Amino acid sequence: MSETKRVYTFGNGKAEGKADMKNLLGGKGANLAEMNLIGVPVPPGFTITTDVCTEYYDLGKDKVVELLKPEVEKAIAGVEELMKSKFGDIENPLLVSVRSGARASMPGMMDTILNLGLNDTVVEGMIRKTGNARFAWDSYRRFVQMYGDVVLGMKPVNKNDIDPFEEIIEHVKEEKGVELDTQLSVEDLKELVAKFKAAVKKQTGKDFPESAYEQLWGAICSVFDSWMNDRAILYRKMEGIPAEWGTAVNVQAMVFGNMGDTSATGVCFSRDAATGEDQFVGEYLINAQGEDVVAGIRTPQQITKIGSQRWSELAGISDAERVAKYPSMEEAMPEIYQELDALQTKLENHYKDMQDMEFTVQEGKLWFLQTRNGKRTGAAMVKIAMDMYHQGMIDEKAAILRIEPNKLDELLHPIFDKAALKNAQVIAKGLAASPGAATGKIVFNADDAAEWAQRGEKVIMVRVETSPEDLAGMAAAQGILTARGGMTSHAAVVARGMGKCCVSGAGTLKIDYAAKTMEVDKLTLKEGDYISLNGSTGDIYLGQVATKEAELDADFAEIMKLSDKYAKLAVRTNADTPADAGIARKFGAVGIGLCRTEHMFFEGDKIKAMREMILAETEEGRKAALAKILPYQQADFEGIFEAMEGCPVTVRLLDPPLHEFVPHDEKGQQEMAEAMHLPLKSIQQRVASLHEANPMLGHRGCRLGNTFPEITEMQTRAILGAALALKKRGVKAVPEIMVPLTGILYEFLEQEKIIRATAKQLFEETGDSIDYKVGTMIEIPRAALTANRIASAAEFFSFGTNDLTQMTFGYSRDDIASFLPIYLEKKILKQDPFQVLDRNGVGQLVKMATEKGREVRPDLKVGICGEHGGEPSSVEYCHMVGLNYVSCSPFRVPIARLSAAQAAIKNA
Ligand code: PEP
Ligand code: MG
Repeated sequence: MSETKRVYTFGNGKAEGKADMKNLLGGKGANLAEMNLIGVPVPPGFTITTDVCTEYYDLGKDKVVELLKPEVEKAIAGVEELMKSKFGDIENPLLVSVRSGARASMPGMMDTILNLGLNDTVVEGMIRKTGNARFAWDSYRRFVQMYGDVVLGMKPVNKNDIDPFEEIIEHVKEEKGVELDTQLSVEDLKELVAKFKAAVKKQTGKDFPESAYEQLWGAICSVFDSWMNDRAILYRKMEGIPAEWGTAVNVQAMVFGNMGDTSATGVCFSRDAATGEDQFVGEYLINAQGEDVVAGIRTPQQITKIGSQRWSELAGISDAERVAKYPSMEEAMPEIYQELDALQTKLENHYKDMQDMEFTVQEGKLWFLQTRNGKRTGAAMVKIAMDMYHQGMIDEKAAILRIEPNKLDELLHPIFDKAALKNAQVIAKGLAASPGAATGKIVFNADDAAEWAQRGEKVIMVRVETSPEDLAGMAAAQGILTARGGMTSHAAVVARGMGKCCVSGAGTLKIDYAAKTMEVDKLTLKEGDYISLNGSTGDIYLGQVATKEAELDADFAEIMKLSDKYAKLAVRTNADTPADAGIARKFGAVGIGLCRTEHMFFEGDKIKAMREMILAETEEGRKAALAKILPYQQADFEGIFEAMEGCPVTVRLLDPPLHEFVPHDEKGQQEMAEAMHLPLKSIQQRVASLHEANPMLGHRGCRLGNTFPEITEMQTRAILGAALALKKRGVKAVPEIMVPLTGILYEFLEQEKIIRATAKQLFEETGDSIDYKVGTMIEIPRAALTANRIASAAEFFSFGTNDLTQMTFGYSRDDIASFLPIYLEKKILKQDPFQVLDRNGVGQLVKMATEKGREVRPDLKVGICGEHGGEPSSVEYCHMVGLNYVSCSPFRVPIARLSAAQAAIKNA
């Protein structure tokens, strides 16, 4: 026998595990242990480690069961002692739940089995023990169904198939003439169990297992199996969770929320997960099992009185009706509520983060089943971090580290335009489950959502309720609308995790999947009709409603300011227009790291002059055309310098191959022929001569400026001319001229010579001058390898990691999609190297080039302007190798500022 400990027990204030053992015990298991240690009442049980999940896939089921047996049996004995009952016993039976629990929370992705340990004789024992035959038989029929579905594989695979157990229930209800499950008598429930078991025998060829231990092993193994089910695999892919992590299995004594009116079950958050408001919120149901709250079958009631009042107002229910039919827990069970409130505060204070908790009240006794750091929206994430910081619960570093950089994105996204909203017609209201604004065409299932989105349509997925099978559709949709389910329903929880707009529980919608229609009042909407959702208010609008940019609040500004205090990297932006530059300034960019000038040539009349320049046969012809472009370029640069308010602006000389600018259609070619007084044929010949087999590695970058120096001359004049013009108006400009795609020192030297000579001439002509720098992109491996030579002349480096990645891997930037998905799936690549900087390869070049450059020029300014400049892990790497700045698109500036601060704190 090996020494490995595979099972960790907890109960009655003691635990073998603790909170920081998440990797081994999973999030749920570690927190169940911790709750015991801090005096929160938790039903006793044990956790089988995540390592066993790996063993399960390595060694196989039988071997793992053999390895686990002694520890599991001992742990069950411990639970029996604490619960004063016996597993499988007829007189005093112990029932258990079996649940999965991975390191990272994967809501609803894997399977759970409740009421395990029941059989035909044990159920009689339960009746004797509880005096409640209905409850015992109801638990039993639920167990047989769950076990049949999950462990015995009877759950339908095809979503159009009906669950065999549901079919039996419907049949029996029809026979008895009742509508609700709760109207079934004890005899009916007995009949259900018998029919369920017959169905199991028929479908699997085996009897339903009677032995409690046989049931337990079946359930444990099926939790391990569920780690590899399709939805778990898809969820892991979306969230970037590695398959090697495995899941733990938690086995716990059952407690029952469905033992009558002094029992209840619920889900709650220590703060509002949607808005971040410091308000205890949650939902509960009296006389119900946990699954009833999240399944959206009954309308859950609010836990707090204030929450309940807000809810009734939204639902249009009078306070009298609310109190009579849907009272809050605070009103209906005041003592339990007090205890719950005190414990949720205790848990939040202990974990110093917002908690997402599940609880059950069994005959007046409160038990916590779970606590974890709650998933939250981007807005709530910022508010909770800043509130906790202001409340003194966490310090500023912790506040910064609490923010997931990529989630800030949600705050930066559009909201509805207020003017457009005024004229918009609200057709229904639901719960504001996940904020944001969304507009799209209605589709009624996940497959259609994915398919329509694939062909470029914006869709809103409308469902009665969602389940984990809908995940791919939810990911593809702009927003999600459900008719059933509360704030903790699957749709709400998953949408919040995805940062996707969601309105749930819009009860007035009548959805007909077969007809693909949705009816509200007397209005019928079909598949393909437009609706709009406001996930922050729950409003549902007819048609398309225009959106506008998000407005950022004081908390956001404060977290950004705190970030700047710690960040060592400056954050610049990649912007080619005054408007983009302006947005980036608002988001806190302290310069432009890359202004791609090619963009400017496409606008308005400029393209014609540009084409003339390219199509010209002689230097004079080119110069004449460039003279037409110069004033346009200069005006563009003036606008950008002005928007940047005296911050440095790196302008890159023309980079893309010339054939990208010339007309490839006959109409366009004819137009140029007329303008240039040339025969069409000679234009066509010139266009053909520009064709390249591999343009990415062709006549582009500084190869253009070195073959047509007049382009560099014109651009230098435009850049420095703009700066001088602003100087005259008293506006400061700090130009940095950047040579693209340098691979050889002499390529750079040639360009530098032209730039400096042009500047000198311009300064003489104008009788004025301005400081400027000349530097280069490092985006060819040879440039990185010879960075010391290049730095002898270049005043700054900017890593173009898009091209550097392309040339280091030898993967075409434009053609990677044909093999990347397979490479990711086979784990040949862990991540797309064009998104996340490859530290081992490309990163090494960046580090080496920075060091080599600074050997000869200690004050060399070094930045990055590839797409990686706004990606958190790449930003961290840039910090680690000592870059001066990162540069990214305007909307990623806040993400980069925060990532830079986190990198500095983590690598202090
Ligand atoms: C790069 O190559 O990383 C870069 C910023 O330049 P571009 O994307 O314009 O080639
Ligand atoms: Mg490039």
